[in-house]
Amino acid sequence: MNPLVVSYLRQQKELGFRTLYIPGQPGPAPRNEPETRAPEGRAEALAGLYEESKGCRLCGLSGTRKQYVFGQGDPHARLLFIGEAPGADEDEQGLAFVGRAGQLLTKIIENGMGLKRNEVYIANVLKCRPPGNREPLPEEREKCTPVLLEQIRIIGPEFICCLGRTAGRFLLKLPETTPLGEMRRRFYEFMGARACVTYHPSALLQHPEWKSGAWEDLKLLMKAMGLAIPAHFK
Ligand code: URA
Repeated sequence: MNPLVVSYLRQQKELGFRTLYIPGQPGPAPRNEPETRAPEGRAEALAGLYEESKGCRLCGLSGTRKQYVFGQGDPHARLLFIGEAPGADEDEQGLAFVGRAGQLLTKIIENGMGLKRNEVYIANVLKCRPPGNREPLPEEREKCTPVLLEQIRIIGPEFICCLGRTAGRFLLKLPETTPLGEMRRRFYEFMGARACVTYHPSALLQHPEWKSGAWEDLKLLMKAMGLAIPAHFK
């Protein structure tokens, strides 16, 4: 090995670094450290959290919801998707992303990323549907997000993909006015996970011309996860 490389690596080791990052070549991140995971089984911890939170009355949405939409998926998922809030279909069924936007998300996960929908975890910033699907209010987000943070702590995903501005702002603590364009195309550290932001599937249904940008975001994510990029997306 090149002696310069050897001395650089020795110096990094002396400085206490244990991971080597090569710019422009994001490799799979290590699994989260145990302290971000639930000490007990993750499925049991999530079930316990659901039981504790499903009767929540902390904001006005509890008066208008049909169902509390906790989120679902693999408690050991490497990848967590975070959307905005349940819509009418999700409110009816009590499951996240089961309407038209959910069908597109399934296509993205399965046809685009080559994963199975049941091997990721899918949740929302809000657990209850805002009337008329309006954007979540800051006070609703504040009341609701402790549950999402606990879900992240229990699952300990390696990667988080925020779908749309609401999830991006929640995650990155950005001002209310920050446009999605300023959040995309990079990774952020969040609770031990590598997090990124892309378009919300509902936005892609309304603006199919944004799909190529979404694929660029997903390719970055897939590379970081060590997933093969299908030939038609290269
Ligand atoms: N939009 C979201 O943000 N979440 C859902 O669960 C459904 C639609």
